[in-house]
This record gives sequence, C-alpha cells and structure tokens, in this order.
Amino acid sequence: MTVVHSNPGSDMAALLDRQRSAFLKDGPPGLAERKARLKRLRAAVLAHRHEVADAVSADFGHRSQHETELMEIVGVIQAIDYLSRNLRRFMKPERRHVGLFYRAGSARVEYQPKGVIGVMAPWNYPFSLTLIPLATALAAGNRAMLKPSELTPRTSDTIRRMLEEVFPADEVAVVLGGADVGAAFSGLPFDHLLFTGSTPVGRKVMGAASDNLVPLTLELGGKSPTIIARGHATAQALDSIVFGKLSNSGQTCVAPDYALVHEDDLDTFITEFNASVARFYPDGPTSRDYASIVNDRHFERLHSLIEDARNRDARVIEAGVRPEQAAQRLRTLAPTLIVGVEDDAAIMREEIFGPILPVRTYRTMDEVIDYVNARPRPLALYYFGPQDADCEKLLVRTTSGNVGINNTMIHVAQDDLPFGGIGPSGMGAYHGIEGFRTMSHAKGVFVQGRWNLPALLRAPFGKLADIALKVALGSDKRRSKVIGTREYSRRLE
Ligand code: NAD
Repeated sequence: MTVVHSNPGSDMAALLDRQRSAFLKDGPPGLAERKARLKRLRAAVLAHRHEVADAVSADFGHRSQHETELMEIVGVIQAIDYLSRNLRRFMKPERRHVGLFYRAGSARVEYQPKGVIGVMAPWNYPFSLTLIPLATALAAGNRAMLKPSELTPRTSDTIRRMLEEVFPADEVAVVLGGADVGAAFSGLPFDHLLFTGSTPVGRKVMGAASDNLVPLTLELGGKSPTIIARGHATAQALDSIVFGKLSNSGQTCVAPDYALVHEDDLDTFITEFNASVARFYPDGPTSRDYASIVNDRHFERLHSLIEDARNRDARVIEAGVRPEQAAQRLRTLAPTLIVGVEDDAAIMREEIFGPILPVRTYRTMDEVIDYVNARPRPLALYYFGPQDADCEKLLVRTTSGNVGINNTMIHVAQDDLPFGGIGPSGMGAYHGIEGFRTMSHAKGVFVQGRWNLPALLRAPFGKLADIALKVALGSDKRRSKVIGTREYSRRLE
C-alpha cells in the first residue's frame, strides 16, 4: 500500500494502526518466519537490481550501473545474508548473573520485536539506506513503514512497487512524499523510528518523536576529517581518499570531507591527488563512472562553496583529465581541491557532500587533535600512516562515529561493525548485532526458584535481616580490608 494523499497524516496513522493490530494479533514471528521474510526481500532485490540502477541513474542525471550495484545492491544483499546467518544466535535469550541472595532463581534477557518500525531515508544512497534498515527491522521480527526520499522519485517508486509485490501492507508499507509527509511521518507513534538524513532535519525529527516518546535512531551527517601522517601522502593513500571522495561524486555521508596534510607534504598530496583522479576517470568528469549532482539546488550550493573559497583567495585546483569538460554534461562538477582556505569559509563549516576536497596543513598531531576536537564530533575519521604512537593518540583523544585506518568508507561494509554517529553526527547505531538490538526490546526476565531467600527478609524484620545485612555489606573490619584502610578512613571522615 502506498500513501500519497492530500491528508497524509490520517492515512499514515491508519496504516500504522493496521500494522500494529496485525502485529499484536499474530504475535512475534519465529526464526523460520523471519528468515522467510528476508528470503523474499532478497529475491525481490535481485529481481529488480537493473531496474533500481536505472532508476537511480535517471534520478541523479547520471550514475554508473556498477556504482549502484556495488555500493547499494551488494550492501543490501550482504546485510540480508549476514542477518539470516546470525539470526538464531541473535534471537537466543541470554543468561545473566544472579546476585547472592537470589541464587535459587535465574535471570535472562529476551530480545523481543518492538512492533512497528518507521524508517526515513535520504536521497544519496536511496535504495540501500531504505532497504538495510528494513532488513534489520524484519530480522528483529517487526513490521515496517518506509518513507524514502522525494528527491529520487523514480527510485522511491521502484522500491514501493518492488515491496508491494512481496509483502502485504500490514507487514511492510511505503509512504511517498516530501518534507510535509516526512514531518507527519516523524510524528507517528511508532515503536521505533530510524531516521537517516541531515543534522538539521534530524533535530526536527527528534522533536516530533519526543511528543510520543518514540525511541529514535538518528543516522546523520557532518564533516569527516582525513588525516595523512607526515610522509604518507602516497599514491596508495590518495587512491583510497579519491575513492571515498569521488564515489557518487562525494554525495556520501562518510566521504572524507576535508584533508589535514603535513605542511611538508602539501605539494606531493596535490600531485598524487591529481594523478589518482586521472587513473580513476581516464575520460575526465564525463566518464560513465563519474556521477552527476542530484539536483540544481545542490549543484548551485557546491558552486557557491567554491566561489566563496575563491573570493577568500584560496587556491582552487580542478583535478584529473580535462576537468573543463564537466560543463558538457548535466550537473557535473569536476573533482576540485581547495588549498589554503580559512576556517571560517563556508566550505570549512558546512558538510560538503560533493566532489570538493579542502586541504589544510598541520605541523603536529596535537594540532590535528585540537582541530578535530574543536568541531562537532564527526561521523567518520580517517587516518593514513603507520599504526604508531601518533595514530594511537589520535584514536584515543578524538571521538567519531567510526574510524578507518589506511582506508576510507570500507568500515561501512563490515556487517559485524556498528554503524552510527555521535552527537551531531547521530545517535544510536545499526548494522551488526547492534542493529538487531536497536530494533528489539531487551526484556529482562527473573524467574523465582524453589528456595526463596529474599522472602525471609520481609517485614517484620528480625535477626535474619541483621545477618543478611552483615553478609551483604560486610563488617567495618572487612570493608576496610577490601578498599584499603586509609581510603576507608578518609571516606568515613
Ligand atoms: P534530509 O534530512 O533533507 O532528508 C531525509 C529525509 O527526511 C527525507 O525522506 C525527507 O523527505 C525527510 N524530510 C525532509 N524535511 C523534513 C522535515 N521537516 N521533517 C521530517 N522529515 C523531513 O537529508 P538528505 O538531503 O536527503 O540527505 C543528505 C544528508 O543525509 C546528509 O547530511 C548526509 O550526511 C546524511 N546521510 C547520513 C547517512 C548516515 O548513515 N549517517 C547516510 C546518508 C546520508
């Protein structure tokens, strides 16, 4: 079922009611049913893979079939397979420790589906960022309502048609529409809401979810720093940075946003960046493997970031083969380096989300750490260089959603790692067991055994309660031994 009506709020609320009633009536699905749903989803994705790649390319103006299949279809299939393989283990109740007085009983955690999960997705990887959360929701035994992006209408419609073929509307439903529909969607009383998108919209979504105290996962964006250790601006490092920066023309939440390069290596970095871009795109920016910018608004936004930097006397370097040919193709922007830009320039304050890489120089790793820590905590941080004391210091002293060492973006493809940001770059995580647990309720269950010692410690209290207190808290003498006499005396003062 699709909802595209003029009064999206009430239609969506009715849909949510339907899904919740069906969930409550049928009860939580077992392992076999969850695996069957994942299998159905897998088959549908494979059957529609070419259609999806065509739709994405039409939505962007141009995006390579390979890029969509490698970065979206493969990601979804891998996630489904990982979830199916590990589901039995994830679903197993966990035995937990029981305190001294309660030993005759047992404690366990049961992972229970939350019910109906809302999923809101952005346009940049419109397929995988809708479908991986869906697969996670299904694996955890939930039903789901999806709200894909309005900026990729063909892809969103393909997702709708594909899912309608394999799931009844009370199991999985797709809601189409723009910001108004998104606002109404985020105000629904879901059992959990997973939002992927920008930090400003994430704030609004959190506000709307708070009205119903809906548990929320926010997968947001930000500026991911890329740090190159002194002497390590190598061809190999630059290939990895160019891969991260120019896949999907930089329209990637975990793309390297800016580079911090040792001042001695600046010229080498520029030369190697240029050489790497030429290797990746031998036909220049009109290469079939180089993506367009999704719409005019974003294209103009990126141009104005470059203009602002140019007006501040930064060096603007268009890289690779025949960059001027970008103008010959719809909304195509040549890979661009910005060198020597001030920190208060727009490009150093806003998430770039395009094929532009500002480069800033540093002298010491302490300076790098201070620079990163003076800014909002990023979604990803990348480091190129040896795993030495400087690398360790950077890892320990900075906080980011994830870290890539001597690579960019590959951490997202690790099914067993949690994926998420922190603070302005996000809240909570999915992928890995964290995804399953995000969409499950961890219910603690205590079962009383035959011998019920705590029952002897109820009012009216007597000698037994005194003994129990002594055992639980220890005598003064014993306590001083455990925590150290001096420390104990200090605490008593
Ligand atoms: P966006 O925030 O504009 O839109 C995301 C979704 O929110 C869309 O479905 C949209 O229709 C909806 N929406 C728009 N306005 C709304 C409102 N007022 N209330 C409720 N919903 C509303 O994001 P975008 O431009 O589609 O995507 C780009 C952003 O997403 C970037 O910041 C990027 O870093 C981030 N992103 C993050 C991840 C991640 O996994 N952390 C992945 C991809 C993209």
